[in-house]
Amino acid sequence: MRVTVLAGGIGGARFLTGVRAACPSDELTAVVNTGDDVTLHGLRICADLDSVMYTLGGGADAKRGWGRRDETWRVQQELAAYGTEPTWFGLGDLDLATHLVRTQMLDAGYPLSEVTAALWSRWDPGVRLLPMTDQRCETHVVVDLDGARRAIHFQEWWIKHRAALPAEAFVQVGVDDARPAPGVTEAIATADVVLIAPSNPVVSIGTILGVPGIRAALAGTAAPVIGLSPIIAGRPVRGMADACLPALGVEVSAEGVGRHYGARRAGGVLDGWLVHETDSAVIPGVTVRAVALLMTDEAATAAMVKAALELAGEIGP
Ligand code: GDP
Ligand code: CA
Repeated sequence: MRVTVLAGGIGGARFLTGVRAACPSDELTAVVNTGDDVTLHGLRICADLDSVMYTLGGGADAKRGWGRRDETWRVQQELAAYGTEPTWFGLGDLDLATHLVRTQMLDAGYPLSEVTAALWSRWDPGVRLLPMTDQRCETHVVVDLDGARRAIHFQEWWIKHRAALPAEAFVQVGVDDARPAPGVTEAIATADVVLIAPSNPVVSIGTILGVPGIRAALAGTAAPVIGLSPIIAGRPVRGMADACLPALGVEVSAEGVGRHYGARRAGGVLDGWLVHETDSAVIPGVTVRAVALLMTDEAATAAMVKAALELAGEIGP
């Protein structure tokens, strides 16, 4: 079976460990958000790709959720001692090696998808990892800051401001020139099932769906498309997704996100939608099922994946 997953960073990474556990002998492809990518200190940093890579590769700091296990911060301390900005982005010593290799390869002319494959080969995680696009396409957030309306990089809003500045809008800078990375539309077109991870609906999944061609690939695939809600009981399970949805006028609920994604037969992306067992949702044209959606460990996450595959089987091609 071919399973293709659209995923963001930490939520996406956790979900993918469950996909791998539930479908160990299947052909698994993850299409990962790159809208959070940023260049700092001259280094190209791909936050969501790295979260997925370290988590699936067994090198992630499970407690922090991002970055490497057994990390040290000596380079960052030296940068701070020189007064080098920005200081708000955490860059561990082990993590820096990834960014150095990536930046060198990008500077040598390799596209991000090839760079990602090269980094990935070290970790051998049993899932094919594709960036959503090879082009730069960075999420910016429109906010009122220092008395003026500005668009700041998503990472500055998310980390420096802890998403506390009200977001007026999210803008994908560069999206007009973006194309799906090699393999992305094929992975969707030839899949037996497409899963939308319980990732941030605006700045992870929304960003992937914003790349021209990806929505059309989802519309055209014979595979059922099943999403899992990142919102439980009206709140994101982890993180600050509730700071993003209001900018789009979307209610922070499993139903609100499901309706925002919409039914495939009505121009949206979903055939099926899983909500947490204590939630309910009515979404015209979408089969909704309530199951446990807490990714407490790999077994619980794998059970979520199995529920999604079961629903896909019922919906059929
Ligand atoms: P990020 O890029 O690191 O922010 O990660 P993602 O976008 O992939 O995932 C963030 C989303 O994961 C948040 O909106 C959370 O609500 C959701 N999430 C985290 N843990 C869980 C969980 O255990 N269950 C569900 N259903 N959603 C979760
Ligand atoms: Ca992210």
